[in-house]
Amino acid sequence: MLVSRIDGEIGGQWARVRGRLREEVGEVEYRTWLKQMTLADASEDEVTIVLPTRFLRDWVRAHYGDRLRALWAAENGRIRRVELRIGAPQTGLAEPVAVPAPIVAASASETARLDAGRSDPRAELAGPLDPRFTFGSFVVGKPNEFAYACARRVAEGGPVAGFNLNPLFLYGGVGLGKTHLMHAIAWAIRERQTARSVVYMSAEKFMYRFIAAIRSHSGVEFKETLRGVDVLMIDDLQFLIGKDSTQEEFFHTFNALVDAGRQIVVSADKSPSDLSGIEERLRTRLGCGTVADIHATTYELRIGILQAKAALQGVTVPQKVMEFMAHKITTNVRDLEGALNRVVAHAQLVGRPITLESTQEVLHDLLRAHDRRVTIEEIQKRVAEHFSIRLTDMSSARRARAVARPRQIAMFLAKQLTSRSLPEIGRKFGNRDHTTVMHACARVAELMQKDPALAEDVELLRRMLES
Ligand code: ADP
Ligand code: MG
Repeated sequence: MLVSRIDGEIGGQWARVRGRLREEVGEVEYRTWLKQMTLADASEDEVTIVLPTRFLRDWVRAHYGDRLRALWAAENGRIRRVELRIGAPQTGLAEPVAVPAPIVAASASETARLDAGRSDPRAELAGPLDPRFTFGSFVVGKPNEFAYACARRVAEGGPVAGFNLNPLFLYGGVGLGKTHLMHAIAWAIRERQTARSVVYMSAEKFMYRFIAAIRSHSGVEFKETLRGVDVLMIDDLQFLIGKDSTQEEFFHTFNALVDAGRQIVVSADKSPSDLSGIEERLRTRLGCGTVADIHATTYELRIGILQAKAALQGVTVPQKVMEFMAHKITTNVRDLEGALNRVVAHAQLVGRPITLESTQEVLHDLLRAHDRRVTIEEIQKRVAEHFSIRLTDMSSARRARAVARPRQIAMFLAKQLTSRSLPEIGRKFGNRDHTTVMHACARVAELMQKDPALAEDVELLRRMLES
């Protein structure tokens, strides 16, 4: 396998092929089936793409083979064959850095417009809305109930006593439902057929549009159009970090709209105060309304989501299988959804019911990634570092809260992330009894429900340990 041949020109072509395919099939489908494609080899007239399992390889071949060939041919006329093989994903050129689509292509791919009226410049600005992202299909649980309630209120419109929802700032890690909630707001407003105009777009799109407007000397119209909307939603604001002139423009638009009593909804992967690289005055304004944090999923929410999605697709998934998936796929809803789609598709393909065995088999590449062996020592080290306590305190007898709490968190993570038994974990923590470990796990789980800051710490540690 000649990795060196894969960078440079062919690497760029591959990035564009993937980018196009992703645009064509949409995010969920892409992540489920195509994200793990790796370009392993390229010769004069043939490229070789590997996938980690036979099932994925067969699926991609059957469903996307023709598109892959056509897209390759469009990128590079010499390529006549696209070989799909099973192989290790580490070699070759894995998921490339996203290549921004050119401005023209971006507007060409927008099929579902927010407003059908093409003559309305506000409709031209709005990004496409995913028909699946409605309030009805959003599963509410502890981690997202506040964000959900805020989003509903915004969709209903009108003032809310004692609550300033303008701007509404939604934040949380990837795949936890920020975009879903924003689309849901837009759909709900549209459904009520009020005269309120809504514009939803990603921060990236905002930037492209802004730059394009400046280039074509239509900056003024761009501004006026934006200032005429009733609800402006900007998704993934973190993409404006370091883009000073775009931030400046957004800041002015923001002020003009809020001053005129219009609604702003913004999402980002961090809270306003953690968004470094955002100008201070913008950051301050962003935090002025309501900041709603979408927390990492809980087991209960994951089960709820699996049940809802299975029902939506009209498939029967055994409870055991759902429990297994909810235990194993903990990263985010997007991954969970992708895993379910795969399991369902496999069952339909082979014409057999879904079982625990088939699920394990079909998801084995995902599960392997999740099953990365974390050791108790690693957990203790990370947790001690995180809370700035001594590593020896993980096994010491000290009971001061400042060391006891981190120790409990480390035990909790050891239970979650390793396959060690309670007595084994106890032994590693200064020969403590298994009931102490059990108590620690219960206590941390309970605290996570009540204390978002602690929940965030634990979640962060878990993510660091798992990556
Ligand atoms: P984000 O924008 O936060 O990265 P998305 O809104 O794109 O995440 O959500 C990722 C996927 O997970 C979408 O398909 C979305 O429909 C689904 N999803 C996220 N949260 C929920 C939820 N609470 N109920 C149902 N589906 C959800
Ligand atoms: Mg999003």
